[in-house]
Amino acid sequence: MKRPIRNTVRSGIRPLLLSVFSAGIVSGAAQAAAAAELNVYSHRQPVLIKPFLQAFEKETGVKVNVVFAAKGLVQRMLAEGPRSPADVVLTVDIARLSVYAEKNLLAPVDSKILETNIPSHLRDRDNRWFGLSTRARVVAISAERVKPSDIRRIEDLADPKWKGRVCTRPGSHVYNRALLASLIAANGEKAAETWARGLVANLARKPQGNDRAQAKAIFEGICDVAIMNSYYYGLMKTSKAAAQRDWAKAVRILFTNQADRGTHVNISGGGVARHSKHKETAVRLLEFLSQPAAQKLYGKINYEFPANPKAESSAEVESWGSFKADTLSIDRIAELAPAAQKIIDKVGW
Ligand code: FE
Repeated sequence: MKRPIRNTVRSGIRPLLLSVFSAGIVSGAAQAAAAAELNVYSHRQPVLIKPFLQAFEKETGVKVNVVFAAKGLVQRMLAEGPRSPADVVLTVDIARLSVYAEKNLLAPVDSKILETNIPSHLRDRDNRWFGLSTRARVVAISAERVKPSDIRRIEDLADPKWKGRVCTRPGSHVYNRALLASLIAANGEKAAETWARGLVANLARKPQGNDRAQAKAIFEGICDVAIMNSYYYGLMKTSKAAAQRDWAKAVRILFTNQADRGTHVNISGGGVARHSKHKETAVRLLEFLSQPAAQKLYGKINYEFPANPKAESSAEVESWGSFKADTLSIDRIAELAPAAQKIIDKVGW
């Protein structure tokens, strides 16, 4: 189909299929039927996205096939070219979404539903990707050895009073690179570099491990302060592994910068594959994921925050308290990522 998605977005919905998910939002449904099958290329683990896709299948009758790979999906789509069977790409972090956009693997989408449900700073200015959930980069502190009032801003982690007490994963990990990009946006490149240098000077050990490993290090007394994504706290707290529950118990999480710009957040999100043969149905899946009922699942399954401000969080996520999130455009974070990486290399984070 040569026609752009513009104005055709709603046409794939049969009135019969309207349910609680779409009632009241999707109106004027037209006649065309949805595609029978949809192929999702996902960097997200099947266990995380299955509940969403099953709900979508139930509502629409569209069968959703998932190709899951932690790595290599961009290369695969590039190799497949116009013959790619991919309809929708789902992934986490703007660093990964922007690679798809840069390689021209995503089709621009014009959807009033997505525009309404997803705040503008959480979606691509050219409408190629849309944030579907957010995750905050929080500070984890030792519940025993640090007072929450000791840290108010992410900037505080560079204060020499934390010398030898901070743990992080390597700076060049996309989570930390995006955090540093947000510091560049807020304070300028020079100040961001000074901060990164101060942070590195405060490290208790060489940057290593993943985010959970930082909580473990606090549990083990290696450090008192760490940087972590918020959902890991929920995952550890509710983990089947007793050790992880102990790590969660050893920490408290702090939402920094509440008196100024808010806590840095990143997104999980998705887009429609450039060469999808079922673009209308692909858009419907993204729209479905952006609606409050599906949005709530992000909190339930992975302790993320809904991107749609009208959606509720899960009870566990809610128990952490509400916080102000930085509304810096995610687009801008992608733009500043190379400058952030330069600083990371320079200061040896
Ligand atoms: Fe993660």
